Amino acid sequence: MENNKNLRNWLNKMELAHPIVIAGPCSAETEEQVLKIAHQLKETDATVLRAGIWKPRTRPGNFEGVGALGLKWLQKAKQETGLMTATEVANANHVDLALKHDVDILWVGARTTVSPFIVQEIADALKGTDKIVLIKNPVNPDLALWLGAVERFYESDVKNLGVIHRGFSTYEKTRYRNNPEWQIPIDLQNKFPDLPLILDPSHIAGRRDIIFDLCQTALDLNYDGLMVETHFDPDNAWSDAEQQITPKTLDQITVDLKIRKQEGDEVEFKNKLNTLRTKIDVLDHQLIESLGKRMKIADDIGMLKNKNNVAILQTKRWNEILGKMILEGEENKLSEEFILRIFKAIHQESINHQKKVMNN
Ligand code: PEP
Ligand code: MN
Repeated sequence: MENNKNLRNWLNKMELAHPIVIAGPCSAETEEQVLKIAHQLKETDATVLRAGIWKPRTRPGNFEGVGALGLKWLQKAKQETGLMTATEVANANHVDLALKHDVDILWVGARTTVSPFIVQEIADALKGTDKIVLIKNPVNPDLALWLGAVERFYESDVKNLGVIHRGFSTYEKTRYRNNPEWQIPIDLQNKFPDLPLILDPSHIAGRRDIIFDLCQTALDLNYDGLMVETHFDPDNAWSDAEQQITPKTLDQITVDLKIRKQEGDEVEFKNKLNTLRTKIDVLDHQLIESLGKRMKIADDIGMLKNKNNVAILQTKRWNEILGKMILEGEENKLSEEFILRIFKAIHQESINHQKKVMNN
């Protein structure tokens, strides 16, 4: 896969003046709903209409999609607006029906990408196709599983491929519905710079107010496009109501986003610098989070020591940590002096935390 230079041919052929925008409802609900949204999107930067026809739900009892009937609505929307269409396929039967209804882009959902058996079934059903296939990241943060799915399609002679970053589920609830874990798509980009990468801010956010920021980060990281859940009446959508926005809001978002074009020496320099800076920001954020988690554990140790009447400073343990970190530092091209300075500071902060806990 590494040597193929044509992975982004399908995107280049579209000759878009901006990153590709795929938009539309989480689920197709009625014919009127699909057509109304399509016509509203026609007035935005969106060139592809998305709609879920079969909805994978984590728990039963929620709306599970209208089924094949909805494919006719997508077809009609395409005829009336000229938008391309996209839907999720989760088995060979879905593929068969989607192809019969002339769907342009098929995407593989996050709950499907985790299963190599089903991915293979879909890849076999699509053997040799010219359709565009986009593969969402698996629900769990596993780059190999994501790439494995891409490779299965690639080996099935599906040439028009891309991936969608929709975040990763976590047990602890955070500000996101699905944690972005930006480092994973960044690693993927480093490995396969030609593979088009699209952000799905809706399923990462799970809410409306942070969709813009997520989109801006993605553009700063040189993503190729966005897939945004869009509905004329988000509050009353049959699925994922909290995270959908109106076509009008989407339009405003694309106006406000700083889209950095890749031309001219100075612009190119600024783009590259900006991408690198965004990567640094992602890592800095992780550093702070890790340090915060480390201090929370220090608090727990403080409480434990307090209960058992043990002194805070344990010199032997501290020297062991330092020795290990200096070695690990060396492996990562970090000088001994730097490691010593950092870990002394971390150790001091830990002691401060433990003192606080023990004095309370
Ligand atoms: C969707 O796009 O509506 C969807 C179900 O997404 P995901 O597979 O990312 O959960
Ligand atoms: Mn959805």
